Amino acid sequence: LAGIYLHIPFCKQACHYCDFHFSTSLATKPAFLAALKTEIQLRKPYLEGQEIQTIYFGGGTPSLLESSELQEILDEIYSCFAVASNAEITLEANPDDLTKAKLKALKESGINRLSIGIQSFRDEDLQFMNRAHNTSEALQCVKDAQELGFDNITIDLIYGIPELSEAAWKQNLQQAFNLNVQHVSAYCLTVEAGTALHHFVKTGKSKPVNEDEAAQQFEILCAEMKKHDFEQYEISNFCQSGFHSKHNSAYWQQKHYLGLGPSAHSFNGKSRQWNVSNNRKYIKSINAQQPFFETETIAPETAYNEYVLTTLRTIWGCDAEFISTQFGDQYLAHLQQEAQPYFEQNLLQLKSGVITLTEEGKLLADKIASDLFYT
Ligand code: SF4
Repeated sequence: LAGIYLHIPFCKQACHYCDFHFSTSLATKPAFLAALKTEIQLRKPYLEGQEIQTIYFGGGTPSLLESSELQEILDEIYSCFAVASNAEITLEANPDDLTKAKLKALKESGINRLSIGIQSFRDEDLQFMNRAHNTSEALQCVKDAQELGFDNITIDLIYGIPELSEAAWKQNLQQAFNLNVQHVSAYCLTVEAGTALHHFVKTGKSKPVNEDEAAQQFEILCAEMKKHDFEQYEISNFCQSGFHSKHNSAYWQQKHYLGLGPSAHSFNGKSRQWNVSNNRKYIKSINAQQPFFETETIAPETAYNEYVLTTLRTIWGCDAEFISTQFGDQYLAHLQQEAQPYFEQNLLQLKSGVITLTEEGKLLADKIASDLFYT
């Protein structure tokens, strides 16, 4: 059982905080689409005939593609892979692209899950982040999608924005509950090197993210989600019962996936591959039948560290027996020794051989995971 990720490397404009790979020029779009279809054919052997349970269009902004272009990509996938009849097929979309006509065509093409990049329901936040949409487009597109029969919708929200007060954050969350979406991913604003936001913070044009305020907003997030019966199945991901992202859960559960398109990563249990993060180089290499990705065999300690980092963030936790059988008893002994102080501080808990973070521990997830690493 495996998944396919497709990276669509185009955006209308650059959001100030974003360090993903994308281009704001669509000049290479036709050549990119042709190269992507070729890559689908070339990479067919990678998953060794495993059934495809999830397909995920990410980016970039996949909703910039015409629905006919998405359909052609899906047709190519269906002709090369065995796709489960109930496969989860997600499209990341921005509100300004989701007209009623577009939503209708997306539904017809077999997309059954929408991941809408709302980020905030406040125009001042959207302008601060240089998003291409406004609040009314955000509200309207969710209502239109629901009317047209989309019953599995996730939205992204961002907290920790310098001018976002606690009250405003609570209102943003309330708006998400009012819309009755099935899933919410909420991330803290991060200031990544090389982004416009990094430059603004460095030159004093923007306040830096206040870590205490961000931590406070994370606590509000967890409490509000709980109050509204959303399960926190991963630190940043919350869902109504039964609406976990199958695609992302598979990443966190070490399942195999094939990543297609510039900058996409792949994993088959033994190695990782990552495609070149440059649209023109990607197209040129594929057309010239030259290598377009690098490969790294995963060393046991790296595999263990990745396992700890990802599983600790989820409700499924870090399984002691899996560590012992997969990596060996010296890794298990290391984990037990390093985890002990955190058990004593009530930041980690152990139930039926599975280690998970406590509510307090969730605030320190990355620090705790890195202390459990094998170096
Ligand atoms: S739309 Fe998404 S991928 Fe594109 S710049 Fe904004 S955050 Fe980045």
